[in-house]
Amino acid sequence: RRPVEEFRGQHRIRVYGTDVPRPFQTFSDLAQQYELAPYISENLARIGFKQPTAVQMQCMPNRELIACAPTGSGKTLSFVLPVLHDLRSPQKVGFRAVIISPTRELAQQIYNQFRALGEGRKFKICMMTKMSTSQQSEDPRLRQKFDILISTPLKLVHAIKQDKMDLSSVKHLVLDEADKLLDLGFLEQMDEILAACSSPKLQKALYSATIPSGVEQLAQTIMKDPVRVVIGTKNA
Ligand code: ADP
Ligand code: MG
Repeated sequence: RRPVEEFRGQHRIRVYGTDVPRPFQTFSDLAQQYELAPYISENLARIGFKQPTAVQMQCMPNRELIACAPTGSGKTLSFVLPVLHDLRSPQKVGFRAVIISPTRELAQQIYNQFRALGEGRKFKICMMTKMSTSQQSEDPRLRQKFDILISTPLKLVHAIKQDKMDLSSVKHLVLDEADKLLDLGFLEQMDEILAACSSPKLQKALYSATIPSGVEQLAQTIMKDPVRVVIGTKNA
């Protein structure tokens, strides 16, 4: 087997799709291969992340991605890192990344990870899970100061419907715990959110511990030539 396949085998990484990028083995390989801004490497060291986890090794697809990896395998960093890398620095053009989480608690953890890895760059991150009345009446243009939005589906759809949310500059849409988000209960909201992210440059990424085949099929219908990464054994 080729060394890359050997390496993936050792880490129980399976990949599907055309031209899947090679995994990076260490965070310094990553920094070199992708010319990471030094602040990201410094923050990784400060947080104490020394080695990438398996899912993180394949987290830079530069296109649409479906990633399936067990709970506790570090999926959060595997989207926080490429999103921060791609956004480069704060800009006042409105949201460029949207992360959807099924619960508030999870959204808070994602927010904390963005804060920790983004330290030093002054990205404006909006956590929209308990929007107060005063925030709702805020001038939508004020939201242009934000780069990243983290939300539960309901809150975001609510804001879209009230015309308070311009998602036309969004380049990264991440669905965390995608199996829950693409389940029947949330499907309508997901459609609304996808429709609002109108940029032709939009890249979607799905992360989940389990992807039932129905969800997988549904996911494939909304993705363009995705890379699929599966860590460990896929649920039957
Ligand atoms: P998942 O979303 O896959 O369930 P999380 O992203 O919540 O996993 O990560 C699980 C735990 O592992 C968190 O406490 C996180 O801080 C830690 N972690 C993530 N990546 C690394 C890493 N590269 N090295 C050490 N710890 C890590
Ligand atoms: Mg998670």
